Amino acid sequence: MIIILKKDAPASQLDMLTSWLKERNLQVHHSEGTSQTILGLIGNTHHLDIDLIKQMEIVEDVKRIQEPFKNANRKFHPLDTVVKVGTQNIGDGGLTVIAGPCSVESEEQIVTVARSVKASGATLLRGGAFKPRTSPYAFQGLRDEGIRLLLEAKKDTGLPIVTEIMDISQLDLFAEVDVIQVGARNMQNFELLKQLGHCKQPILLKRGLANTYQELLMSAEYIMASGNENVMLCERGIRTFETYTRNTLDISAVPSLKTLSHLPVVIDPSHAAGISRFVSPLSKAAVAIGADALIIEVHNNPACALCDGAQSLTMEAFDRLMKELKGFVDARELCK
Ligand code: PEP
Ligand code: MN
Repeated sequence: MIIILKKDAPASQLDMLTSWLKERNLQVHHSEGTSQTILGLIGNTHHLDIDLIKQMEIVEDVKRIQEPFKNANRKFHPLDTVVKVGTQNIGDGGLTVIAGPCSVESEEQIVTVARSVKASGATLLRGGAFKPRTSPYAFQGLRDEGIRLLLEAKKDTGLPIVTEIMDISQLDLFAEVDVIQVGARNMQNFELLKQLGHCKQPILLKRGLANTYQELLMSAEYIMASGNENVMLCERGIRTFETYTRNTLDISAVPSLKTLSHLPVVIDPSHAAGISRFVSPLSKAAVAIGADALIIEVHNNPACALCDGAQSLTMEAFDRLMKELKGFVDARELCK
């Protein structure tokens, strides 16, 4: 349920209403918009008398929210959430580009790629230390050592780092990681999501291979309900009957998630396509449709990459893409 307050509602009356609601075992989420202040209620609201609340002096309107996601719901929080990472504001209308290899392979590799993507305009560095691989015989990542090397690359370039957690037991290793990624395969690892709700870092939550928008938003809700409101939603391609591309980029996810939620939306064209030459057109489509950020795989030698080489851009191709994206970003500004 949401309670829309009248403009200039006196603070004393608002405090009284808030206490009255809390006494009824409800959590009260306060959202200050440009034209409206909204109280979002979480808990069992069925016993509340809507007509009684509507008659209160400071109340403009009361509405029931049908969707099961509350904190992540745009009706609870009409303004876009802006997630801050270092000096970056993700979700403020601009475009953030996160780039780096699928996996951290060596200090030389991660530092080389980090310096190059930074020079091209990326403002966050990605790199997997713990890798969810379909085969147990495939490269599983450098694990703790991978995190250490990412931190070296961060020290060298100043780029904040984004890396995937696969299990709660790894949490201590992530203390200095700037953005914690939850991969597609872990989107519904609810115990992990609850723990991440207690972390101070923003969470990049990837959509599962066969999950709906509502399921993705319910996973975001797990993190938010435990106290971490800095969640970014990532569309990285879903399973469809098409096999030509690795997955199918669901570009409708951008306007759909932005309608349903106030959280920033990130597009991962690399895992969606699985083919490096499609990364550029999909990135442009994502920018044109309003994505807040892109996360792109870039490798210093894709042919020899230990993971996802076929979808990785060379450092030169990434540089070209960043130059080409500028026109799309400018066009988006003009259309605002
Ligand atoms: C990755 O980012 O390298 C990755 C494994 O992503 P996803 O969970 O989307 O497959
Ligand atoms: Mn990958």
